[in-house]
Amino acid sequence: MKQITIISGKGGTGKTTVASNFIKMAHDHIAVDADVDAANLHILLSPQIENREDFIGGAVAVVDENCISCGKCEELCRFDAISNSTENIKIDTLKCEGCGVCEYICPVNAITLQKGKQGEYYTSSTKYCKLVHARLDPAAENSGLLVTRVRNIAEDIAYRENKKLIIIDGAPGIGCPVIASLNGVDYALIITEPTLSGISDFKKIYEVAGFFNIRTFVCVNKFDINIENTELIENFCNSKNIEVIGRIAYDENVPKALARKEFITDYPDSPAAKDIIQLYKKIETQLYN
Ligand code: SF4
Ligand code: SF4
Repeated sequence: MKQITIISGKGGTGKTTVASNFIKMAHDHIAVDADVDAANLHILLSPQIENREDFIGGAVAVVDENCISCGKCEELCRFDAISNSTENIKIDTLKCEGCGVCEYICPVNAITLQKGKQGEYYTSSTKYCKLVHARLDPAAENSGLLVTRVRNIAEDIAYRENKKLIIIDGAPGIGCPVIASLNGVDYALIITEPTLSGISDFKKIYEVAGFFNIRTFVCVNKFDINIENTELIENFCNSKNIEVIGRIAYDENVPKALARKEFITDYPDSPAAKDIIQLYKKIETQLYN
C-alpha cells in the first residue's frame, strides 16, 4: 500500500482541487483530509458519516478553589502559561503544554491536569472511496495529533480492506499538521503557483519534504499567469533533482465548477481538467507499483 500527500506551502494554490480530482480518478484507495483546521474536501466528496468520535487532545492544567495564591506554579511554569493577576491564578490553555510540573509542586493540590474534547473525527463513505476526516474546535491546539489520528484510522482501514493507496490532502503551510501529514508517506506532490509568495512558500515546503527524504514531485498550477516565474520554479527543481511532473493551466472553469460543487474533471475538455488528468496519468504508475 502506497501513500501520497498533496501539499502546498500556502493556502489557495489549488491543492484540494488536485487532491479531490485524484480521489475521483483513483481506484482501490482511501482518502484523508489532513487539513483539520479548515477541512473542505468534504464539500466535493459529499461524505455520509459512518462513524464519529470525539478527539481528546493533550491535557491542560486546571486550578480549583483550594489555591492559596502562593505563586509557586507561576514561578516554575517554563511555558509561561500561568499568570497571577489580582491574586487569581490563571492558566493560559493555549500556552499550557500539559507537562504537569504545576500539579506536582502545588502545596495544596489545587491543580489537576484535565483532558477535554477538542474536536471530532469521522469515517465516511463517498461515491469514490472511504474518507477519513476531522474537525478541530475553534482555538483548539494539537492539530498535528489529530492529523496523526485520522491517518492511523485510514491506514487501519486500508490494511483491513486490502486497499492499494491512501491519498492525503495535506494542510497548507509548514507547521505541525503538515509534518504529521508527511511523516511516513511514500510520495509528496507539491502544488505551487508562479507568484513571488508562491515561490518562497514552495521552497519552505520543499525543505520540509526533504527533511523526511520523501520522493517529491512538483506541479505548477496556473503556470500561464507568469511563465517567467514558472520557469524559475522549474529551474530550481531541476537544480535540486526534484521531478517537475506537470503544469496546470489557469482556467476560469475551476472556480465555477467548485461553486457548483462539481469536479473540474467532470468537464474533461476544459484546459485545467486536461492537465489534471494528464498529471494523474503520469503519477498513477508510481502510485500502484
Ligand atoms: S502552586 Fe497551587 S496554591 Fe500556589 S498559586 Fe499555584 S495553584 Fe495556587
Ligand atoms: S502543566 Fe506545565 S505548562 Fe501547563 S501550566 Fe502547568 S507547568 Fe505550565
